[in-house]
Amino acid sequence: MTRRSVAVLGAGIMGGSAALHLARLGVPVTVFDHENAPFRGASRWNEGKIHLGFLYSADPTLDTARALLPGGLDFKDQVEALTAIALGPVTTPADDLYLVHRDSVTPPDAAARYFAAVAELVRSHPKAHRYLTDASRTGVEPLSSSELSDLADPSVVVAGFRIPERSVDTNRVADAFVDALDGEPLVELCLGRHVTGVAPVGERQDRWRVHASNGRDGNGREDHGPFDAVVNALWEGRPRIDCTVGHRPDRAEHHRYRVSLFVRTATALESPSAVLAVGPFGDVKSYSERDFYLSWYPSGLLARAEAVDPPPVPTVSDREKQRIAREVFAALGDILPWVRSIERAASDVRVQGGWVYSQGGGLLDDPVAAVHRRNRLGITRLGSYFSVDTGKYSVAPTLAERLARAVAET
Ligand SMILES: Cc1cc2nc3c(=O)[nH]c(=O)nc-3n(C[C@H](O)[C@H](O)[C@H](O)COP(=O)(O)OP(=O)(O)OC[C@H]3O[C@@H](n4cnc5c(N)ncnc54)[C@H](O)[C@@H]3O)c2cc1C
Repeated sequence: MTRRSVAVLGAGIMGGSAALHLARLGVPVTVFDHENAPFRGASRWNEGKIHLGFLYSADPTLDTARALLPGGLDFKDQVEALTAIALGPVTTPADDLYLVHRDSVTPPDAAARYFAAVAELVRSHPKAHRYLTDASRTGVEPLSSSELSDLADPSVVVAGFRIPERSVDTNRVADAFVDALDGEPLVELCLGRHVTGVAPVGERQDRWRVHASNGRDGNGREDHGPFDAVVNALWEGRPRIDCTVGHRPDRAEHHRYRVSLFVRTATALESPSAVLAVGPFGDVKSYSERDFYLSWYPSGLLARAEAVDPPPVPTVSDREKQRIAREVFAALGDILPWVRSIERAASDVRVQGGWVYSQGGGLLDDPVAAVHRRNRLGITRLGSYFSVDTGKYSVAPTLAERLARAVAET
C-alpha cells in the first residue's frame, strides 16, 4: 500500500479523532494547531453533554435529533477505542433533569411531546444499548410537583423531566486524547503554527500545501507539504481557510465565545445534573461528587458575530473572572437553591470556555432562530481537500471515522 500523507488542521476532538483514525488505517498524518498542545480549545472546555437530541425541542421536525443521535450512541465505543480511557468513571452518574423555564421557547406540553418522540427514536435505534448507559429501555419521566418544588423555584421552573442523557468530564477525556496522540507513531504534531491558508499544487485538486505562521502574530511564514489530502477541522478558524481554496459550503457563520465554571469542591456533595431548558439560561453538571460544571448563558457569553471570521478571543482579567463566577453562582442559586452548597464547598473555580460555531444564527430566546437547528454539520470536499463542521463534541469521533475512510479512499 502506498502511504499517503495527510495534513489535519486543528487538534481538537475532531482533528484529534480524525488523525487517530487515519493513523490506524496506516496513513501518516501531520496535525497543525496554533496552541502549544492539543485540546486547548472548545474540546477541553465544554460541558460534555453526549447528545441524544433532547435539547433541540425547538426543532420539532426531529432533524437535529436524527443528526445527533448516531454519534451520541457511538461516542463511548469510539473514544474508548481511540484512547486508553474507560468512560464509565468520567460520566455523570445520573440521568439529566430537564427543567422547563417559564420563558422557554418550547412550552411544557410541546416539550413533553418532543421528549417522547426523541425517546422513541433512541429506543428504536439498534445501538441504543451502546450509549454511556443502556438507553434501550429507558424513557422520559415527568417530575412530580413535589420533586419539582424540592429542586427549583416554582415561579421560574414550570415543569421537569428526567431524561436518559449523560455527560462526560471533558478535561479527563481531553487528557486521554493528548496521551493517545503523543503515543501514535504515525501522528506528527506541528504545534504553535497558525494556519493561514491552503493552496493546491498544480491544476488537479489532489495535492496541497499548507501555509502557516510560526505563532499567531503572522511572523515566520512557513510552507508545509505537499500533502495528498487536507482535513480542515479548525472549528472557529475553518471558514476562513475554506475561503483560501475557494470552497465556501457553509450557508451562514455564527460564532459565539462562551465561558462557564469548572468547579472542584473540597468536600463531597450529592447533587443532580440539570438543564434549564430551552433558551438563554444555564445548566449544572455533576461529573462526580466533587467535580461540577456550571453555566449561566447571559454571564458567560463574551463575544458573538455572524461573519466568516470570529471576533478576537476576549481577554478576561482575573477580576472579571471572579465577577463572572459570582454572577453564575447567584443566577443559578436563585433558581436552583442547592447550587449554593456547591458554591460554599468550592475549593477551585476555573472560568474557561471556547468558541461555539454554528451554521445557523439568531438568538436563543427566538423560537424560530436557526441556532435551534443543528443538523447542518458534516463533511464537504473539493478534490482531496476535506472540510468538516464538527457541529457538536458528541458527534466528532463518529464523524471523524467516516472522514478518515473517505480520505483514505481518495
Ligand atoms: C461552553 C461550551 C459548551 C459546549 N457544550 C457542548 C456539549 O455539552 N456537548 C457537545 O456536544 N458540544 C458542546 N459544545 C460544542 C463543542 O465544544 C464543539 O462542538 C467541539 O469541541 C468542537 O471540536 P473541534 O475539534 O471541531 O474544535 P476545537 O476543539 O476548537 O479544535 C479546533 C482547534 O483548531 C485550532 N485552531 C483554530 N484556528 C486555527 C488556525 N487558524 N491555525 C491553527 N490552529 C487553529 C484551535 O486551537 C483548536 O485546538 C460546547 C461548546 C462550548 C464553548
